[in-house]
Amino acid sequence: MSDCIFCSIVNGDIPSNKVYEDDEILAFRDIAPEAPVHIVIVPKLHVANILDLDESSDLGQKMLKVASKIAKDEGIAESGFRIVNNCNADGGQTVFHLHFHLLGGRNLKWPPG
Ligand code: IMP
Repeated sequence: MSDCIFCSIVNGDIPSNKVYEDDEILAFRDIAPEAPVHIVIVPKLHVANILDLDESSDLGQKMLKVASKIAKDEGIAESGFRIVNNCNADGGQTVFHLHFHLLGGRNLKWPPG
C-alpha cells in the first residue's frame, strides 16, 4: 500500500533498524521504544490488522514464532517479555498494517493503560 509506513519500511523506502527478516516477515526496532527492547514484527504482505488475517493463514503463528526467536536472541527470554497487538481505535492501533510489539528488558506493569 503506497501510503502505509510499514509497507514503506518493508520495501526499503523508509530505513529501519532490522533485527529479523525472511520471505514473509520483517522485524525492526521501534522508533519510539517503550522498553529497553521494543521490536515491531510485521508481515511483508499488507494486512490492516488482526481482524483481516485470513482464517486459513498461518501468518499469525509464524509472527509469534519469530517473536519468540527474537526474544531469545535479544536475551529477554528468561527474564520475561510481552507480545502486544493493538487493534483499532480503542486498542490503540496507530499504524494500520498488522504488527506485534515485542517488549522486554524491564519489569512490565499490568494491566496496560
Ligand atoms: P501501534 O500504535 O500499535 O499501531 O504501533 C505502531 C508503532 O510503530 C509505534 O510503537 C511507533 O513508535 C512505531 N513506529 C512508527 N513509525 C515507525 C518507524 O518509522 N520505524 C519504527 N517504528 C515506527
